[in-house]
Amino acid sequence: MKKESCIFCKIANGEIPSSTIYEDEDFRVFLDLNPATRGHALLVPKEHFDNLFELDDELCKKAMVLAKKLAGQMKEALGCDGFNLVQNNGETAGQTVFHFHLHLIPRYEGDTAGITWNQGKASPEELEELTALLKKK
Ligand code: 5GP
Ligand code: ZN
Repeated sequence: MKKESCIFCKIANGEIPSSTIYEDEDFRVFLDLNPATRGHALLVPKEHFDNLFELDDELCKKAMVLAKKLAGQMKEALGCDGFNLVQNNGETAGQTVFHFHLHLIPRYEGDTAGITWNQGKASPEELEELTALLKKK
């Protein structure tokens, strides 16, 4: 299903032009207009899903396999030193376009992408409490 008001539905389905580097029946992968680094691309399903929680399981599997393949090809073509896959869900997590997408971000020695976070410190009690909370019985 497509969502009328969604820009990534329009891009993924070719209604709005994009710098496409890969396309198949399920996905389009195109360059980000505001790249974190040279070659930053977005892997987007043609069907609309707001986020990871909504994403179809089969497409989820295919997305990761495709990301792996493209990351390898991009690394070879761009000569980058590393690679980040980034996927934001919800405004709090930095999502700005509410159609599931996976960022493919080539990394270069000394680049300014700054994909990092402040490291906290988990106490043993906290680890125990969280393990009990999160571990599936
Ligand atoms: P988010 O913040 O939701 O994880 O990522 C959205 C990404 O989409 C951003 O990196 C932003 O630069 C990119 N973006 C937003 N609108 C467009 C557009 O119209 N075309 C392209 N190519 N990228 C877009
Ligand atoms: Zn959409």
